[in-house]
Amino acid sequence: MTKHKDAIDLDAVPLSDRLRLPLGPVSMAGLDPSATPGYPGDGKDDAERYTEDLGPRLSDLQEMLYASGRSVPERAPRILVVLQGMDTSGKGGVIRHAIGLVDPQGVELTAFKAPTAEERRHHYLWRIRNALPSPGKIGIFDRSHYEDVLVVRVDSLVPEDVWSKRYDEINEFEAGLVADGYRLIKCMLNVSFDEQRKRLAERLADPSKYWKYNPGDVDARLKWPAYMEAYEAALEKCNTEAAPWYVIPSDRKWYRNWAVAELLREALSGMGLAWPGAEFDVATEQQRVAGS
Ligand code: AMP
Ligand code: MG
Repeated sequence: MTKHKDAIDLDAVPLSDRLRLPLGPVSMAGLDPSATPGYPGDGKDDAERYTEDLGPRLSDLQEMLYASGRSVPERAPRILVVLQGMDTSGKGGVIRHAIGLVDPQGVELTAFKAPTAEERRHHYLWRIRNALPSPGKIGIFDRSHYEDVLVVRVDSLVPEDVWSKRYDEINEFEAGLVADGYRLIKCMLNVSFDEQRKRLAERLADPSKYWKYNPGDVDARLKWPAYMEAYEAALEKCNTEAAPWYVIPSDRKWYRNWAVAELLREALSGMGLAWPGAEFDVATEQQRVAGS
C-alpha cells in the first residue's frame, strides 16, 4: 500500500471509531497492547511531532469550550477524561504529554488514591462528584470510580453483593452526567504483563525513578489475572452508548500519548463549538477604543 493511499484511508475512519470497544463480551487477551491503529506517521521517530502538532488546535478548542459556556454556565459543555490502567500503563505520561498540550487554565486534574478516612465515611461516588470539572473545563481523572470495581473487587475490600451492584449504579451516574452536558472519554490504557515488568525494572535501575516505584505495585502485578477479569467486567458492563470505553494500546508510549490527544481533539471537534458573538456593538466599541 502506498503512503498516499494510507493517508486517505485514515481520514475516513476517526480514531474514536477504531479504539472504541465494541459492545459485548470483552477478552483482554484479544486486545493487542502493542498495536498502533490509526497512527498517521511512520512510528516512534515522528510521534513527538504528530502529538505536538495537536497542541494549538487543542488549546483553541478548549478556549472555545470555555467561551461557549460563559453566558449560560449551568448548560456549559464539559469534558471528562477518565484514565484507568494497571501501574506503569502511563496515566502520568498521558497527562504530561497529551493533556499537557492544553492550556493548564483549561484543565482540572484529580488523582484518586485509596480513600481517606473522610472519603470512606461517604458513598464511593461522593469524592467523584466533588471532583467533576467546572463549566467549560476539561476534567482529568487519574484513576476514578472504576477503582471501586477494580482494586475493591480484586482485594475484596467490600463484599461481592456490594461491588456487583456498582456497575449499574456507575452506568446511571455516567448517563446523568452526559444528560447534564458532560462528554465522557473513558480510556483504558492497555499495557502488557511483559511491558509492565520492563517498566518496573527500569524504575529500579535508575535512582531518579525510585520515587515512582511502589513495592505494592508488585503485589498488584501478582494478581494480574484477577485484575484482567475485573477489567473485563468493568469494560463490558459499563460500555454504554452514552459513555463508551476506549481501549488504548499502551506498550508504545509514543502511540498512547498521541492517541489520547487525538481522541480529545476529535471529541472537542465533534461538540459543535463556536466562538460566541459579541454582546456589545463592535463598531461602537472600536470607535470608543480608537478615540480613547
Ligand atoms: P497511584 O495511582 O500509583 O498513585 O496509586 C493509587 C493507589 O490508590 C492505587 O494502588 C489504587 O489501587 C488505590 N486506589 C484508588 N482508588 C481506590 C479505591 N476506591 N479503593 C481502594 N484503593 C484505591
Ligand atoms: Mg503507581
